[in-house]
Amino acid sequence: MIEIENVRKSFGTLEVLKGIDLTVNKGEVLTVIGGSGSGKSTLLTCINGLEPINAGKIVVDGTEVHAKSTDLNRLRQKIGIVFQQWNAFPHLTVQENVMLAPRKVKGMPKAQAAEIASKQLKHVGLGDKLDVYPGRLSGGQQQRMAIARALAMSPDYMLFDEVTSALDPQLVGEVLDTLRLLASEGMTMICVTHEMKFAREVSDRVAFFHQGVMAEIAPPADLFGNPKDPELQKFLAATH
Ligand code: ADP
Ligand code: MG
Repeated sequence: MIEIENVRKSFGTLEVLKGIDLTVNKGEVLTVIGGSGSGKSTLLTCINGLEPINAGKIVVDGTEVHAKSTDLNRLRQKIGIVFQQWNAFPHLTVQENVMLAPRKVKGMPKAQAAEIASKQLKHVGLGDKLDVYPGRLSGGQQQRMAIARALAMSPDYMLFDEVTSALDPQLVGEVLDTLRLLASEGMTMICVTHEMKFAREVSDRVAFFHQGVMAEIAPPADLFGNPKDPELQKFLAATH
C-alpha cells in the first residue's frame, strides 16, 4: 500500500503540495482530478521518487521512498508510471522497446524478456504489432505500448498521468479500455485524468486537488453526486 503523510513539496519558493495525506490500498483504483497546476503530476513523481519532497513522508509497502537508505531503482521496479507521452526508440520494434527495461534493469535473459514483452503486448491488445516500428503506431497504440512497457516490469502499482490527454478523441476509448482492464484485474492504480466518465465508472475513490491541497476525496458517487468543496463544485460545473 501507498501511505502519504503530510507531504510538502516546493519548487523554489512555490509550494505545490501543501501537506498531502492519502493512503492508497492494495487493489484500489484512485483517480486524481483538478485544474492545471494543482500538483497532480508532482504527487506522482514524488511517489516514485523522481522528485524529492520537503516534508512529510511517502511509504510504499513499508519502504520510505525518500529515505537515504532506500534503493530507488529497486523501489521503482514495483511502481510503473506512464505519462502523457513516451518517446519509444524509433529504431527498435515495439517488442524490442518493451523488452528494454526487463533486460537492462532486471538483467533478464533475452528469450524471457521477449516472452514477457509479447505477453504484455497481447494483454493491451497489440499482439499483432510486435515486429512493427513505433512510428507506425497510432497515438492510442503508442500509449498502450507504453502501458505494456511498464507492465513488463511486473509492477505492484501503476501511476498514470493524463495518458489520454495528447490523443485525438477517437483514440481515447481504446486506452481507457486498457486501464479498465487493469483495474478489473485488481491492479492498484493512481490515475490522474480529465476523463470524468472514466473516473466515475472505474474509481474506488476520486481525489480533487486544488492549489496543492487535496480539497476533497470520496467514492465517485459522493464526489460527483454531492460535491462539498466550493472549488470542486466550480470545477465540476466547468467540466460538465
Ligand atoms: P498538474 O499536474 O496538476 O497540472 P503540476 O504538478 O505539474 O500540476 O505542477 C504544479 C505546479 O508546480 C505548477 O505551478 C508547475 O508550474 C510547477 N512545477 C511543476 N514542475 C516543476 C519543476 N520541475 N520546476 C518548477 N516548477 C514546477
Ligand atoms: Mg500534470
